[in-house]
Amino acid sequence: MFRPTLSPTGLLSCQIYHLAFRTSVMSKRQRSTSPVGTTREEELNASGHDVKRPRRVDTRFNPIKIASAEAAAAVDADPPCFKIQEYMQQGMPEPDVGKAVFYWMRFADLRITDNRALSQASERARAIGVPLVALFVLSPQDYIAHDRSPRRIDFVLRNLATLQISFRELHIPFHIVTHSPRKTLPERVFQLLKEYECNHLFANIEYEVDELRRDIRVWKLGEKHGIQVNLFHNKNIIEPGVILTKQGKGYTVYSPYWRNWIDTLNSNLDEYIKEAPQPLPNSESIMQDKRFSVLFKAPALDSIAGFELNDTDAAKMEVSWPAGETAAKQILERFLNTRVRSSQLGAVNPLNPGAQNGEKHSRILKYKDTRDQMDKDSTSRLSVYLSSGVLSIRECIRQTMVLTGSKKVEGNPSSGVGRWIQELAWRDFYTGVLSHYPRVSMGRPYFEKYSEVVWEDHQVPQDSVAKHEGREDVDGEMCRRWKEGMTGVPIVDAAMRCLREMGWVHNRARMIAAMYLTKDLMIDWRVGERYFMQNLIDGDLASNNGGWQWCASTGVDPCPYFRIFNPHTQSLKADPTGDFIRHWVPELQKVRGPELHSPPASMADKLGYPREIIDHSQARDRALRRFKNPGEE
Ligand SMILES: Cc1cc2nc3c(=O)[nH]c(=O)nc-3n(C[C@H](O)[C@H](O)[C@H](O)COP(=O)(O)OP(=O)(O)OC[C@H]3O[C@@H](n4cnc5c(N)ncnc54)[C@H](O)[C@@H]3O)c2cc1C
Repeated sequence: MFRPTLSPTGLLSCQIYHLAFRTSVMSKRQRSTSPVGTTREEELNASGHDVKRPRRVDTRFNPIKIASAEAAAAVDADPPCFKIQEYMQQGMPEPDVGKAVFYWMRFADLRITDNRALSQASERARAIGVPLVALFVLSPQDYIAHDRSPRRIDFVLRNLATLQISFRELHIPFHIVTHSPRKTLPERVFQLLKEYECNHLFANIEYEVDELRRDIRVWKLGEKHGIQVNLFHNKNIIEPGVILTKQGKGYTVYSPYWRNWIDTLNSNLDEYIKEAPQPLPNSESIMQDKRFSVLFKAPALDSIAGFELNDTDAAKMEVSWPAGETAAKQILERFLNTRVRSSQLGAVNPLNPGAQNGEKHSRILKYKDTRDQMDKDSTSRLSVYLSSGVLSIRECIRQTMVLTGSKKVEGNPSSGVGRWIQELAWRDFYTGVLSHYPRVSMGRPYFEKYSEVVWEDHQVPQDSVAKHEGREDVDGEMCRRWKEGMTGVPIVDAAMRCLREMGWVHNRARMIAAMYLTKDLMIDWRVGERYFMQNLIDGDLASNNGGWQWCASTGVDPCPYFRIFNPHTQSLKADPTGDFIRHWVPELQKVRGPELHSPPASMADKLGYPREIIDHSQARDRALRRFKNPGEE
C-alpha cells in the first residue's frame, strides 16, 4: 500500500550532460562526443554548435514531483500563466535597433510555417534593418523534470535537422545551444543576446509551470538589460484565459466550455485561425559573415546523453513518424481525403502507398463512427506533430474548412468533421486547465480529497534519476506486469505493448490501460502518468495529465469513479476484428471469436500467455470502496 510523501515543490540542481552529434543531416546515425577542454569560441567553431557544458551526469538533479497541498494551492491562487499575460499586455518600450533580432524557438514550436513569434520577429528584423537569428536551447534538466521520452527527444532532434535546412535556405542562422543547469537558462540566453548585440527577443510561450516561471525571469532580465521581450500564444486555437465561465473562471466542465469555444471561434475566425506570414529571408551576405557563417555549417545533432535510442528503435521511429512540416501536412491531407486502412498497425510509414481516395468515406468524414476503433487507422495520428508544434493547429482547422467548403468551423459533433474539431478543442481545454489550475501539473489531483485514496503496489514517482544512477525502478509485480503488457487482459496488454513499441497508442487504448491501472490494479495514477510520458512520442503534460486524471476520476470533468470500464467489453467494441490484439499479442495470433478478448485460463496456459492477474469484479468492488471513502481500505 502506498501513500505519496508530501513535500514542498522546489528545484534542485544540477544534471549535466554531454551531447553526441549527428554527423550529417539525415545520414546514418553515428555518434561522436563533443570536444572537451576547449574555449567556447573554439567549441563553436569546431562543431558549429554551442557545446559549452560540463560533461558528467550529476545525479543530484532530482526535481520534486509532488508538491504539498499548500504549495499547489498557492500556485493556483496566482497562476503564472496570467502573470505572463499581464506582461504581454503591458509590453516593453522600443529599444535601440541593435544588431540582430532573435527568435527563440521552444521545445514544442518546431516549425517555420504559421509560427506567430517567428513571423513577428521576421517582420521586426526587416523593419529595423537587422538580421533575424533563430535560437534553440536544449535543456536536458527540463527533459528529466518533465519525464520526456527518448523517442520524443529523438523526434525533436530529427525535426531540428530539417529546420536547419529550412533556415539555411532563408539565410537565417540557427543557433542550437545546450544548457545545464536549467535554473540559469534565462541568464545564458541573455548572455548570448548581449554577445550578438540583440535588443529584440521573440518567443512563443509554453504553459507548463516551470516554463512560465522561466519566462517571468526572462521578462525581468529583458527589463534589466533593456532588451525587448515579445511573447506570443501559438499552441492553441484559442489561448487560455479567453474562454471563461460567467464567474470569470477557467472551465472545469467540457460541454459548456465547448459551446463557448465554438461560438467564440466562429465569431472571431480571422483572429484565431489566420495564418501567420512566412518569415522573410535574410540577405544572402550573412552566410559569409564571420560570426554567423559557422552556424550555417553546423552538423545536425544525433542524440542527447541519457535519451539515446538504440538503432532499431531509432529506425522504427523514423519510419513511423517521419520528421518535418511537409510530412506533417501530408499526414493531415491523408486523414482528410483517404479511407481508413487496417494495414497501418505497427511500425509502418503513415505515407506509404495504397491509401484510397475517400470522397464521402474519408477517415475524417467517418470519424464520428470509427474513432473508437483501434484495429484501423481511424484517427489522424497527428498528436505527434501537434504536440511538437511541427504542424499548426490553425492549419488543421483551416483545412477542415476547405474540405467542408464552409466559412464557419464545423460545430456539429454529429458529423465526422465536427466530432474531430471537438477533439482539437479538448486539447485547448486541457491547456486551459493547466493554466488556470496549475496544481494538476504539480502531482496533485484536481479534487484534493482524492489525494487520500489508498493505492496499492507502487513505484516512487519522485525518483526521477534512478535510471541515470543505474538503479532499477522499484515497481511491484502488478505494476511491472502492466508496463510490460503481461496482465492477462489482451486489450490492456496490446495497448501497453503498442505504447512501448510505437511511442503512441490510440486514445481508447490509453483510456482502457489507464482505467485498468487506476481502478483494477488500484495503482496511483501518477505512476501511469509518468510512465506514459517516459514512453510517448506525443507526450504533452496538459493532455496526458488530463487523460490520466479523467481515467482516475480525480480530475476536472472526470469519469465518475463508479463508472469503471470492464476491459473485456471495452475490448469487443474497440477491437471488433481482433486485429489490434492479434498484432500486438502474438501469443494470441491464432485465436478467433470472443475468447480472444478474454482467454480462459486453460487456453492462456496452452498458448504461453499469462492468466489474468486480477479478477475484474473483485477489483471493481475494491475501487468503489476506496473512492467512495478516500483514506479507507
Ligand atoms: C491517459 C491518456 C493520456 C494521454 N496523453 C496524451 C499526450 O501525452 N499527448 C497528447 O497529445 N494526447 C494525449 N492523450 C489524448 C489522446 O489520446 C491523443 O491525443 C490521441 O490518441 C492522439 O491520436 P490522434 O492524433 O490520432 O487523435 P485524433 O483522434 O485524430 O484527434 C486529433 C487531435 O486532437 C487532440 N486530442 C484528441 N483527443 C484528445 C484528448 N482526449 N485530450 C487532448 N487532446 C486530444 C490531439 O492533439 C489529437 O492529435 C491522452 C489520453 C489519455 C486517455
